[in-house]
Amino acid sequence: MIRFERVVKRYGENTVLDELDFSVERGRHITLIGPSGSGKTTILRLLMTLEPVTDGVIWVDGEPLTHQRTPDGSLKPADEKHLRALRRRIGMVFQHFNLFPHMNVVRNITEAPVRALGQPREQAEERARELLDMVGLADKALAHPTQLSGGQQQRVAIARALAMEPEVLLLDEVTSALDPELVTGVLDLLREIAETTDITLLCVTHEMGFARDVSDEVLMFDAGRVVEAGSPEQLFSAPSHRRTREFLSAVL
Ligand code: ATP
Repeated sequence: MIRFERVVKRYGENTVLDELDFSVERGRHITLIGPSGSGKTTILRLLMTLEPVTDGVIWVDGEPLTHQRTPDGSLKPADEKHLRALRRRIGMVFQHFNLFPHMNVVRNITEAPVRALGQPREQAEERARELLDMVGLADKALAHPTQLSGGQQQRVAIARALAMEPEVLLLDEVTSALDPELVTGVLDLLREIAETTDITLLCVTHEMGFARDVSDEVLMFDAGRVVEAGSPEQLFSAPSHRRTREFLSAVL
């Protein structure tokens, strides 16, 4: 379970997350929606420990993500070793794929399991080929990222994240850099992952149809807070908050 407890994130004078509280149960599929600049990507970056929180605590399965316990039971900001260990449990797929350009597809997928988890290369390659089969790219194992379309690169990025066997997968607008005709393939793959695995999914998306299909719960953000949370049926059909209604009427 992930729990944000009064999490504050400031950049200088700019308060991006303002005492944010929310929880995600294990295995749930959560979508974060809301206007540009409302802090959605920041939430994912904090969970990946790419950024420190300014205040508050993020809990993962009862353990503080951003802090560690001292012998007297109090919390202090986490050191790099603690962060590295937790980071392995959480995978992230970015808008711009971020594949390693000088490595072929299999190498992109096996690099982290071999280096960070110490998997034997042969075992990591076998798993990479299974994952490539799953994402429909079995024939591209030896291609380099520049030889692939954007949609194919994003499917490799998803396979790469899955190779680390994460408990939680963070998806940050993973289709927004794709040509429209490539979006469907990536969304179908994510639907399949949602249906066939028990990974907890946290998706920032502007694809409201996808949010409606895949989510157990949709969280509407505005100005660093959750202004409304509910099932997709409830939130899309009968939004109760003025900001949700304004946002949905602008994007739907
Ligand atoms: P979008 O839908 O446009 O991606 P978002 O809801 O994901 O927006 P964030 O990317 O989380 O929004 O950004 C929230 C706010 O934090 C913005 O005002 C942004 O300018 C600010 N911000 C984000 N990263 C930094 C940074 N590294 N330094 C300073 N300000 C930042």
